[in-house]
Amino acid sequence: MAQNVPITVAKGDGIGPEIMDATLHILKEAGARLDIEEIEIGEKVYLRGNTAGIEKSSIESMLRTKVFLKAPITTPQGGGYKSLNVTTRKMLGLYANVRPCVAYDPYIPTKHPGMDVVIVRENEEDLYAGIEHQQTPDVTQCLKLITRSGCERIVRYAFEYAIRNNRKKVTVFMKDNIMKLTDGLFHKVFDEIAPEYPDIVNEAWIVDIGAAKLADTPGAFDVIVMPNLYGDILSDVAAQIAGSVGLAGSANIGAKYAMFEAIHGSAPRRAGQNLANPSGLLLGAVMMLVHIEQYDIAERVHNAFLRTLEDGIHTYDIAKEGKNPHTTKQVGTKEFGDAIVARVGQEPQRFKPVRYIAVPKQADRAGSVARPLQQRDLVGVDLFFYNPPGDPVGFGQRAEKLNGGGLKLIMVSNRGVKVYPDGLKDTLTCDHWRVRFQSDNANPLVSYQQVIDLMQRANSSGFEIIKTEGLYTFDGKAGFSLSQGQ
Ligand code: NAD
Repeated sequence: MAQNVPITVAKGDGIGPEIMDATLHILKEAGARLDIEEIEIGEKVYLRGNTAGIEKSSIESMLRTKVFLKAPITTPQGGGYKSLNVTTRKMLGLYANVRPCVAYDPYIPTKHPGMDVVIVRENEEDLYAGIEHQQTPDVTQCLKLITRSGCERIVRYAFEYAIRNNRKKVTVFMKDNIMKLTDGLFHKVFDEIAPEYPDIVNEAWIVDIGAAKLADTPGAFDVIVMPNLYGDILSDVAAQIAGSVGLAGSANIGAKYAMFEAIHGSAPRRAGQNLANPSGLLLGAVMMLVHIEQYDIAERVHNAFLRTLEDGIHTYDIAKEGKNPHTTKQVGTKEFGDAIVARVGQEPQRFKPVRYIAVPKQADRAGSVARPLQQRDLVGVDLFFYNPPGDPVGFGQRAEKLNGGGLKLIMVSNRGVKVYPDGLKDTLTCDHWRVRFQSDNANPLVSYQQVIDLMQRANSSGFEIIKTEGLYTFDGKAGFSLSQGQ
């Protein structure tokens, strides 16, 4: 007999306790091998003055069990409360957000019958690193950080997910025609890892046209992996167009820890009335069962759920007050759970039965892409100056006077567009100027002392330096972009 797996469970707020009770009842009756540690999170904890919404002892439970099944919580009105989801995601290093977006037509109306797309979103990097600065009165900046190791982890996760869930294709969405280095790295790593999975078809789309295609013809996609921002937006779009936001579950996965939940909130107006639909949380729990390798139970629960939907046993949100012709019986939260329990062991007849496949975990197949140490050389510097807008030629000529010590001005850009030398008269400028300096002789290498000397000259000539960016090459290849027009 396999051992029970300890998990941490939080019943949350609003409809949370009801949908969690129904979910746990189904898991138990389906034979899930779990030892449950219950913790308290959310509104009550926030209102006790804990701005994180979670006690230290509860965090310790999560660190101990490494698996967290979470019902939705209510974030109290008013400022000062930190998002529990962001806290948990960062604290536990949950790098992958996985959201299956499935249409359940004809039982739930949708414009896209048969839609079955899984969005795998990178969860930690990109523009969400939270590194923002106001640099001048006119200009704010947010750093978009994409790491090779982060790309490798999420791309590999997407392919592993595809195998484990019997899926046939993984698509990457990114915008490397514009962001050649950051999104370019995401795409490159995808291309490096994809051949390790010859049984899975792979393809790449630029995110704008890919998103349009997803909204129009979701049947063209299977698993889609993307950087954080695109994934944040498109996972909501995908759930919405599937027509089943109330039924979607999601997983947040890290190297050591994982959290599973419904994508909807705590629906306070429906709380305590035995009305809410527990399906979103239940499908989150099914992902948890797969994660802890109880594939047989995951399959039984998922198929019993599909059979219940097919049999027309629906909660109010699906029955639509008698308007859903496929509803045979409108039931409450508890009765819906009981109907699923009664169908454990049965398979759906109209939907395709779900099959989960036991494959070795990601860590076992890790063998990260070989990465020899690269030769890294400094070949110049971009100095960013605060200076009033207008007169790029005058500014360029003044900046050119900083030449010397083996460095010369290559170009000046403003808002990413080259404005000196040979800029266009009509280019709009702001108070944020970038001046690029590189070697003035046949040896392209530059020392950091040369950069410091240049900054000294700039400072004593009255330039206000906002920041600097080193220009590096890696194995002789430029690690920086040219500006438009350079
Ligand atoms: P919501 O998802 O709670 O509700 C939106 C609508 O969907 C409501 O009409 C609600 O009745 C309905 N609904 C949601 N889940 C349902 C279910 N399982 N069965 C039947 N109907 C359901 O979103 P909201 O009203 O914007 O937010 C309510 C609270 O939830 C807020 O405090 C918000 O901060 C919180 N919230 C929490 C999470 C989370 O914990 N992960 C996510 C989103 C919102």
